[in-house]
Amino acid sequence: MPPETIYEELGVPHVVNATGTKTRIGGSRIRPEAVEAMRRASEAFVRLSDLQARASELIADVTGAEAGYVACGASSALALGAAACIAGDDVGAMARLPETEGVPDEIVMPRTHRTGYDHALRAAGARIVDVGTNDRHLGTGSRNVEPWEIADAIDEDTAAVAYVEKAYTEPPLAAVCDIAHDRGVPVIVDAAAELPPTRNLSAFVEAGADLVAFSGGKAIRGPQTTGILAGRADLVASAAAQHLDMHAAEQVWEPPRELVDADRLGGVPRQGIGRPMKVGKEELVGLLRALELFAEEDHEALVEEWLERARRIAADLDALPGLETSITADDKTAVAPEVVVAVDADAAGVSATDVVGGLRREEPRVFVGADALPAGEFTVNPMCLTDDEATYAVERIGAQVEREDEP
Ligand SMILES: *Cc1c(COP(=O)(O)O)cnc(C)c1O
Repeated sequence: MPPETIYEELGVPHVVNATGTKTRIGGSRIRPEAVEAMRRASEAFVRLSDLQARASELIADVTGAEAGYVACGASSALALGAAACIAGDDVGAMARLPETEGVPDEIVMPRTHRTGYDHALRAAGARIVDVGTNDRHLGTGSRNVEPWEIADAIDEDTAAVAYVEKAYTEPPLAAVCDIAHDRGVPVIVDAAAELPPTRNLSAFVEAGADLVAFSGGKAIRGPQTTGILAGRADLVASAAAQHLDMHAAEQVWEPPRELVDADRLGGVPRQGIGRPMKVGKEELVGLLRALELFAEEDHEALVEEWLERARRIAADLDALPGLETSITADDKTAVAPEVVVAVDADAAGVSATDVVGGLRREEPRVFVGADALPAGEFTVNPMCLTDDEATYAVERIGAQVEREDEP
């Protein structure tokens, strides 16, 4: 049994995480160095705009972007990014968001890039115009979206093009950026979970993205409530102006020049659309520390460690009745290798759904990956497991398939 946690003290069963960095079970294990940094951040005050200017430097450094900003999640980075693309440095438009009368407010997206997370773009006032089809599934050889469809949808009402970076997304980001830039429109990329590899910190900026959103609370292992917005300095400045607490006397309003160009704004903005998404000094400092460490980390060694754990788990599960495992390669589709477990319901006496449901009712609960349940499979992701927890997870999976034998 894994040791008791603070959650048991609160009367809440804790979760053994065998499914990777999923927000609904707490994301990731924040780095101890980031926790310590947060504790120290709590001891004194700081002007948040100064701290964001420092964050901008570090983010620019590790991503190759002109500037950066810390939001309270990748979702919030997307919302701020959309607000920046819509309002620019127009303080009137900033004050009106999410009402967008008089300014371009459409965000063009390939239809197959739509996800629940694009609600963040709409929350800023954007109207999403999606293009393309699902015709690929007709088996005719056609693609989901043609570059000309994106080009065709861009007009004088377009504020941005949005792109979700995943192994299955097309056309290539660089091609989409060329189309958008030819028409004077910025591209916002959702790359929330696309780290590691470390090179992805800069890959999407290099491909031409104007703004890129990353989660701070996934593999970076910063605070759960952080996200990174990296990109063009003018857009980051607009995001800052719509996010920072702006109640200020104009005579003494001197935001850091590197972050907000007060002259261009021509006045102190009101509390903006980003104000309900505030980031505290502790989270900001925690993210900075975590990002520094992430950028220095040896990810190949880490993937090797995950792969080794995955192999041990797979070998143990293969010995159980009705289970057959394979290990996914470490490729672009997933940041960590995973064990795919196929359940032969006749031999196991239970279905994959029974196993996954049963594991969630354990104490501590065990969460495995449930995306492939319709195919009779579940997955075990090694990246958020300790060796002890992996042993516990395997043992409880065994208990599910051998449940029939219990009195
Ligand atoms: C996790 C995720 C998000 C949200 O990230 P948060 O940091 O939790 O706000 C957005 N988009 C995609 C594709 C994600 O995987």
